[in-house]
Amino acid sequence: MNIQKKWDFLIAGTGVAGLNCALHLPAGAEILMLSKDAADKSDSFLAQGGICVLRSPDDFHGYFEDTMRAGHYENDPEAVELMIRSSPALIRELIGFGVRFARDESGALRYTREGGHSRPRILFHDDVTGKEITSCLMRAVRRLPNVHILEYCELADIIAEDGECFGGVVRDLKSGQLFPVYADATLLATGGVGGLWENSTNYRHLTGDALAIAMKNGVEVEHLDYVQIHPTTFYSEKHGRRFLISESVRGEGAVLLGADGRRFCNELLPRDIVTGEIRAQMQKDGTKYVMLDLRPVGEETICGHFPTIFRHCLEEGYDVRKEPIPVVPAQHYFMGGVKVDKDGRTNMKRLYAAGETACNGVHGKNRLASNSLLESLVWAERAAFSMPSEGKSARMPEKELAPYSDRAALAADYAKMIREEAEREAYCD
Ligand SMILES: Cc1cc2nc3c(=O)[nH]c(=O)nc-3n(C[C@H](O)[C@H](O)[C@H](O)COP(=O)(O)OP(=O)(O)OC[C@H]3O[C@@H](n4cnc5c(N)ncnc54)[C@H](O)[C@@H]3O)c2cc1C
Repeated sequence: MNIQKKWDFLIAGTGVAGLNCALHLPAGAEILMLSKDAADKSDSFLAQGGICVLRSPDDFHGYFEDTMRAGHYENDPEAVELMIRSSPALIRELIGFGVRFARDESGALRYTREGGHSRPRILFHDDVTGKEITSCLMRAVRRLPNVHILEYCELADIIAEDGECFGGVVRDLKSGQLFPVYADATLLATGGVGGLWENSTNYRHLTGDALAIAMKNGVEVEHLDYVQIHPTTFYSEKHGRRFLISESVRGEGAVLLGADGRRFCNELLPRDIVTGEIRAQMQKDGTKYVMLDLRPVGEETICGHFPTIFRHCLEEGYDVRKEPIPVVPAQHYFMGGVKVDKDGRTNMKRLYAAGETACNGVHGKNRLASNSLLESLVWAERAAFSMPSEGKSARMPEKELAPYSDRAALAADYAKMIREEAEREAYCD
């Protein structure tokens, strides 16, 4: 296949945002997707807790208020309403793609609860909801003859001229080869920034590349300092990605304990508040972690709802049915991003963004648990409906590739740009 031909659409990222966009672009459009690692190495596969949905019209106010309160009322209320109102149709679509959410004996959907939620409204599949959703979408995309996925290929930059995007500079990470890819519209869906942090639940290759690329090309970004720390990741001295202990274990009754074996906070407050309480307790106790006791959840729910967490802790030497585990806060999610409108448009023509890379105002200063898969999917679909309106472009501007040849230097530059902008925003707030 000639990759360097002109494509209709270029999508950087194969998480839920990239995949759902590809699935909703016009049938027959020629689509190229890029994935920096293997296509299934995305945070979307790691999501444990679940995905929120508006269960019934009478929960609109509660769901809206919970999202706004968690976000410290810095959320865009129109974006929040749009996400919530889109959720029932989106869940029906996911079920149509084969996603199996947990159901009770009568076949009705089951709902769980996480911190910040005033009632259970989260759909789940064991403790591997992200894997269930993303692998169904991936299967659907792989069946489309018009979509080509390039694995181990990264977007190194976009090709932009006169305020318009004409595609991107791509690096084949196996051969090192650099080449231009031209497209009528491009979607940035490269996920979060956890790879820039020493301790994070994210995959290490998620380093916010699209943010730096956007800044470098004068595309608006915002709130780069809005980073969510998850209160409970498994404490380990080992290097690498931190293993998440989903908030829904606390939703199902797990409690946090200090060194004296006593509870020290309300475990179901929003994440930033629980994180603050844990840090204060660690300081008071002089420890590197606090304990999380899953025993109140009960053996049946532990094994039935949280089999992956159960197995992981066993491998680490803890049987959560019998004893508490050490947990510590770690970087988890990024609320800021490339600024987009209700249709995922950036301020550059022919350039869109969706998923964790984008900032559409839904999350405000702090994301409510289990809102990000939903938000990513909704905005990716909206972007897919909007991208074709950019029309055809005859332009394929030449791009000099030499400035991208030193990958390590480019990555260091990009990381520095993101850190400096985050610091500047934090200082200005
Ligand atoms: C452990 C964990 C648990 C979570 N649990 C939940 C949950 O229960 N509910 C919930 O709603 N959310 C949860 N989240 C958050 C949620 O999973 C993510 O916000 C969401 O999946 C982001 O999707 P995405 O498509 O934007 O990015 P990702 O799924 O991260 O995909 C990013 C893609 O971009 C690619 N990429 C990166 N850089 C480049 C580049 N330069 N060029 C080309 N490709 C690139 C990657 O290879 C990858 O394919 C969780 C996150 C983690 C880490």
